[in-house]
Amino acid sequence: MAEFLTTRGTSHHIESIIMDARMKVVLVSPFLQLSKTLYERLKDATKRGVVIVIIYGKDDLKPNEKNSLAELKNLELYFHENLHAKCYFNETKMVITSMNMYQFSENNNREFGILIDLKTEPDLYKKAENEVKSILEHSDNQKIHKQERNYFKEKINNTDPGGFKKVPQIPKMGYCLRCEGRINFDPFKPYCRECFSTWAQFENPYYNESVCHCCGEYTDNINMAKPLCAKCASKIQAN
Ligand SMILES: [Zn+2]
Ligand SMILES: [Zn+2]
Repeated sequence: MAEFLTTRGTSHHIESIIMDARMKVVLVSPFLQLSKTLYERLKDATKRGVVIVIIYGKDDLKPNEKNSLAELKNLELYFHENLHAKCYFNETKMVITSMNMYQFSENNNREFGILIDLKTEPDLYKKAENEVKSILEHSDNQKIHKQERNYFKEKINNTDPGGFKKVPQIPKMGYCLRCEGRINFDPFKPYCRECFSTWAQFENPYYNESVCHCCGEYTDNINMAKPLCAKCASKIQAN
């Protein structure tokens, strides 16, 4: 029997589908943005040799997200502009749900879904799988390339007429550690206004955040006390 899932159950089972995948995981979601947790799960899966197939329908990716996706080996990415379905499956389990990929694990909305097991309900599973195949056949295969991020490269290439290499300058814009929004560059104020007000409820300078304030890439151990990744920190200090 298919199992009914509420918001938490849906998140939980999507995560399990990725963690338990042995050959292939298919993620169908109009919005492509990934939460950090989901991204890490996918990265672990690729290390096990799992092929990741993502079908999406709205292109609204931040450079950070593009670069992160570009780093996933074994990723097959497809775009279908009329996509509205959300469905996640591996070789044995499938979740059909209202939940978008980016809402996974940090969701305040009320979502629900159903969990289908290939063993107990092969017909249902196959029907949904075939529908995904049909969507896939009418989708465009997309290639994502890692974008050279910006700033340091530009400045370093910029040699002045006297032949002196300019040292990298402090960037004007940075990223909010938490929501990845663009904000003024200031390592002492690495949050946007909204995220700062949530941070300020606890004022924990070591609370783990998502991205480097400077380059906007996903970074481990990033927080108010240490808002820059090692690479950016060393470049900023060189000034
Ligand atoms: Zn923010
Ligand atoms: Zn950085």
